[in-house]
Amino acid sequence: MTSVWDTAERTALREMVTSFTEKELVPHLSAWEDAGEIPRDVHQRAAEVGLLGIGFPEELGGSGGNIADAAVMTEAVMSAGGSTGLLAGLFTHGIAIPHIIDSGNADLIDRYVRPTLAGQRIGSLGITEPGGGSNVAGITTKAIRDGDDFVVNGAKTFITSGVRADFVTTAVRTGRDGFGGISLLVIDKGLPGFTVARPLRKMGWHCSDTAELNFDNVRVPAANVVGEVDGGFVLVMQQFVNERLSLATQAYATAQRATDLAVAYARERETFGKPLITRQVIRHKLVEMTRKTAAARALTRLAIERAVEGSTTDPAIILDAVMAKNQSVEACEWVVSEAVQIFGGMGYMRESEIDRHYRDARILGIGGGATEVLNDLAAKLLGF
Ligand SMILES: Cc1cc2nc3c(=O)[nH]c(=O)nc-3n(C[C@H](O)[C@H](O)[C@H](O)COP(=O)(O)OP(=O)(O)OC[C@H]3O[C@@H](n4cnc5c(N)ncnc54)[C@H](O)[C@@H]3O)c2cc1C
Repeated sequence: MTSVWDTAERTALREMVTSFTEKELVPHLSAWEDAGEIPRDVHQRAAEVGLLGIGFPEELGGSGGNIADAAVMTEAVMSAGGSTGLLAGLFTHGIAIPHIIDSGNADLIDRYVRPTLAGQRIGSLGITEPGGGSNVAGITTKAIRDGDDFVVNGAKTFITSGVRADFVTTAVRTGRDGFGGISLLVIDKGLPGFTVARPLRKMGWHCSDTAELNFDNVRVPAANVVGEVDGGFVLVMQQFVNERLSLATQAYATAQRATDLAVAYARERETFGKPLITRQVIRHKLVEMTRKTAAARALTRLAIERAVEGSTTDPAIILDAVMAKNQSVEACEWVVSEAVQIFGGMGYMRESEIDRHYRDARILGIGGGATEVLNDLAAKLLGF
């Protein structure tokens, strides 16, 4: 029986993404890792073949499909030798524009969503601040209404694609303390007082530029508010289900790639006169890697299928996404570590692909809700 993950359309999608990744992305990945960013023209080429628009409505310039199609794309990029850093840098719009689409604001959609899906603009999402990221309700970047503008003061940090971004969908405090006083404001690069303080150097995700942003009396038109003033927290929370499912997918897809690389190496590498794979301890390790990856994939795919059918505000769907992310990240961290072990010294070398996956994987349990924070949320949702 054909599963929903292997329909004719999704098989064609897998083939298209695999071909694009092999031809246009993987040959340049090392150079982009060294450069610390992905060239802008890659966004345009990815848009031309329909890659950037996967999971976004066709009437807005997307390619159609839903988060299951986006997951198929992630699986294909990873199995073809891509990386989660590449996904983070090339698909930052996956976290930067959905709130704008949900708001239905035609002007903002024309100015930010369409050109981004066409690969002409790059967007970021600015929530985390130097004072903290886990507690979104505690953000302090202030936006005070003055005539037709908001005047913004504050700073954001660890912002993916923040160095290159033309605009940042930014969480700002427009009202009282707590979650009820937060709005989302689209802030254009180049506005007086908006500076990219510094590109940040990281453990992994080297090809994905990450920035600290400063706002010093930046005047932003009130027309750039996404949704309702003081209604930003709900918009941010609604997108967390998709972001967490996307990170869960990146985690099991990384684990699958790491397992595949380890199996190939264990077949070819000889120690004490025999291939590694002839050793029972190595075969059992590979079996465990395969099992944990399969379990993570199954749970995440189930959560995705339910999210496609349901609503991202349904507590059961929120719980599914939280459980899938934590399960998948746990599997991924264990699998990439065992894969490096199987590669021995070569696994520690920058020239080996597994070294990159090992470093890249470490962020998955921190971004989009740290594991502990998600467990806390799960405890509430489960009534514990
Ligand atoms: C490479 C990278 C890219 C990123 N991209 C973006 C982006 O594009 N946009 C953006 O807004 N942010 C981005 N972030 C920020 C990311 O979302 C935050 O790092 C994350 O939310 C955690 O916030 P924090 O780092 O301030 O950690 P803190 O909130 O200070 O927490 C530190 C640690 O404490 C633990 N912890 C926190 N709260 C609790 C609790 N209640 N109970 C128990 N333990 C707890 C967790 O282990 C957590 O990792 C990025 C981060 C990185 C590293």
